[in-house]
Amino acid sequence: MLLIPCPHCGLREESEFTYGGPCRDLPALDGQSDAGTWSQAFHMGKNPRGPLRELWYHSSGCEAWIEVTRDTASHEIIPGGQT
Ligand SMILES: [Zn+2]
Repeated sequence: MLLIPCPHCGLREESEFTYGGPCRDLPALDGQSDAGTWSQAFHMGKNPRGPLRELWYHSSGCEAWIEVTRDTASHEIIPGGQT
């Protein structure tokens, strides 16, 4: 069972959350980057084996979106983790 640390509610079971996918560093929508570059960054994200920053929605709790770093191989949650 995966336990996810919500900064508002504490450790909660994964079943209380909805997975939002990996965090993506997208180019700013300021007219400086072309649509192809933005589309590539949005649709062709990394799929690493190891630490990955992810978004989770605490749908059965405080209803906040939180960022969690999870090792995709071991499912270990890395506190304060960065990738
Ligand atoms: Zn919460």
